[in-house]
Amino acid sequence: MRRHLVIIGGGAGGASTAAEAKRIDPDLQITMIEQGKHVSVAACPMPYFVGDTIKQEHKLIARTPEAFRESGVDVLLKTRVERVDTDQRRVYLSDGPEIVYDRLLVATGASPILPGIPGQDLDRVYTLRSLEEAIAIKALVQSGCRRAVIIGAGFIAMEMSDALTGFGLDVRIAHRDERPVTRWGVEFTERLMSTFAERGVLFMPKTTISRIDQNADRSLRLTTNQGEIETDLVVIAIGIRPNVTLAKAMGLQLGDSGAIRVNLSQQTSVANVYATGDCTEVYHRVARRWVNVPLGDIANKQGRVAGQVIGGRPAVMPGIVGAQSFKFFDLELAATGLGEQEAVRYGFHPVSATAWAPPTAPSMRQKEDIETGLKLIADQSTGMLLGAQAVGRRGAVQKIDVLSATLWYEARLDDLASMDFGYAPPFGGAWDLIHIVSRLLLKKL
Ligand code: FAD
Repeated sequence: MRRHLVIIGGGAGGASTAAEAKRIDPDLQITMIEQGKHVSVAACPMPYFVGDTIKQEHKLIARTPEAFRESGVDVLLKTRVERVDTDQRRVYLSDGPEIVYDRLLVATGASPILPGIPGQDLDRVYTLRSLEEAIAIKALVQSGCRRAVIIGAGFIAMEMSDALTGFGLDVRIAHRDERPVTRWGVEFTERLMSTFAERGVLFMPKTTISRIDQNADRSLRLTTNQGEIETDLVVIAIGIRPNVTLAKAMGLQLGDSGAIRVNLSQQTSVANVYATGDCTEVYHRVARRWVNVPLGDIANKQGRVAGQVIGGRPAVMPGIVGAQSFKFFDLELAATGLGEQEAVRYGFHPVSATAWAPPTAPSMRQKEDIETGLKLIADQSTGMLLGAQAVGRRGAVQKIDVLSATLWYEARLDDLASMDFGYAPPFGGAWDLIHIVSRLLLKKL
């Protein structure tokens, strides 16, 4: 008898598990069930599709249902899993007969947080969680709409403001706090704020929306604590939460973060049930605790581990250090590890230092060079690096990648202060910014 793996959710976590499990055990019967119209949609490039850097929508689909079926993975689209009986190992669908599983994967992703205001479900109000929404926003923008309001100021809001401004839209960001992307320190978000001004994006801090209404011509009117705003399009990007309704009903244990608790082999608290992606927790190697970090690279890595384990090969998800990056106009923003507030929350004694340096050596300096900023955060008691943040026109992501690797291997600050990096004048000074900030920080320990 062939073993049967049933997968709930055809996003990054589900699709990567299916591909890996099939590779390890070609005899495994796999059924992937997805409530939407597509599987294996890459959400990360969606802002670039809306902004038309990516022209064709098929480039957002990593693998089609047909390709999965050819490889022996059965795909059920527009089918929702309504209930799971883990004693009988049965999955009940929105349509079609129930399915019996030997192994089950829960990869239900995350749902957008909505502000809970009248009008949030209106036509032309989007959350950018699906390919259909990305296509609809792009069509609207290309049909000549002129104004957009983005509610929220996280990294997706930043990417969308860049994308929409590229079409010449009048873009406003309405945010309840004073600063955008609070993972980055004030010194870095100030750079972002000046870019808003240069690029014509209106950032509206301390703004709360109480309702959205539709005008006769289908444009929208937002009522806010700062007055009314007329717009043609709204994107709500105020965060997401793990989609765990089904998992809770199945009796799967949740962690403190509210996401599904898994072990390092992606097994849940219930026998034969695994979980991957945004709906799960992942081990944070710096915080030394389980957290929910809904990012695509993590979902893919968890999927590879779950697929191997389900296929019959032992595997371990080694955890994360919290690396993240995004592009905002011509700026790179990247961060890794813990910020100061998080570090305090997790019982560390953080101390930080920041420095700015041009991206080239003094001999090659160009007038248009803008400085790269780097902040390092270390634990005062142990001298261990805890985290880093960077912003710059080039090289910021590369610095954070280096620092992620050192966090992974628990490098000390004094190692970093003289670590061997590739120096050449077009890429920076003989003393890299990482050396400079490490030395500044060592003085504070
Ligand atoms: P999803 O991809 O959301 O898939 C879950 C699937 O489960 C959904 O298709 C859903 O329809 C289905 N489902 C749920 N419940 C059921 C049910 N009961 N029955 C059947 N099907 C069900 N991450 C990065 O690392 N870098 C980035 O630059 C980045 N940019 C992003 C930009 C945008 C606009 C967005 C939206 C996300 C971005 N992410 C990024 C995050 C990344 O896309 C997610 O972490 C990743 O898609 C998570 O994969 P997942 O499989 O867990 O969830």
